[in-house]
Amino acid sequence: MIRASRATQVAVPSSPPAGEALRLDGVVKKYGAGATATVALRGIDLVLVPGSFTAIMGPSGSGKSTLLHVAAGLDSPTSGSVRLGGTEIAGLRSAQRTRFRRDHVGFVFQAYNLLPALSVEQNIALPLMLGQRAPDPAWLDFLISSVGLVDQRHRLPSDLSGGQQQRVAIARALVTRPHVVFADEPTGALDSRTGRQVLDLLAHTTRELDQTVVMVTHDPVVAAHAERVIFLADGAFAGHLDGATPTQITQYLSGLGEW
Ligand code: ADP
Repeated sequence: MIRASRATQVAVPSSPPAGEALRLDGVVKKYGAGATATVALRGIDLVLVPGSFTAIMGPSGSGKSTLLHVAAGLDSPTSGSVRLGGTEIAGLRSAQRTRFRRDHVGFVFQAYNLLPALSVEQNIALPLMLGQRAPDPAWLDFLISSVGLVDQRHRLPSDLSGGQQQRVAIARALVTRPHVVFADEPTGALDSRTGRQVLDLLAHTTRELDQTVVMVTHDPVVAAHAERVIFLADGAFAGHLDGATPTQITQYLSGLGEW
């Protein structure tokens, strides 16, 4: 868990400029061309403020993964603007986007994606090492303690439970003090109790480190941990709920069709 008392001992990341961690304007994404083209996103406008925790939901094929990929700079939009922490990334070439992502974006995936030959500590520091930046020892200590892995810091991922591995992945996602952490079904491989602990950790991160988190999930119980749930249908926004319960989310989704 992130402890407020320890947060005072290290430099907590400052907010991105202008109070916008992520801003999408008129984002369109088409796959293919001509008569067979699929329009996966049909003009998405979105602003996420620093420290917000947002879930994205919608029926299968509604554009959730595409939105996550385009917003995170894993893919470029066909048209429109994507600004992360004030930097326009939509027009960046692939190599520039990759560098920007490594330095300014955090990712948490269902499958953890840890390197099996590296220790917990080395896995967490990896994004900094790849960017040839030396880890700040106090920040690394703080993160390892925040995710409750002090006793495991020199262990290999294979020595850890699924929940512990996902906590390593969360610390790794935070280590660069990114503008936004993108999480794709972060609890999909965990049992419900462990999944709840991981979601509590993500929620603590947003509150205590002012970290912006956006998560795609198909599970209303998971989405209910977020402050806001945004619904997509057929590549466009179909509304949002704030502070919703799993039941309210399920009811909203059932109005959007098959999911
Ligand atoms: P979701 O994550 O909500 O299930 P996706 O973002 O995966 O939705 O897909 C949105 C639409 O874009 C779907 O019609 C899907 O078939 C299409 N799509 C996604 N990725 C590709 C791709 N690489 N090539 C062609 N069509 C794609």
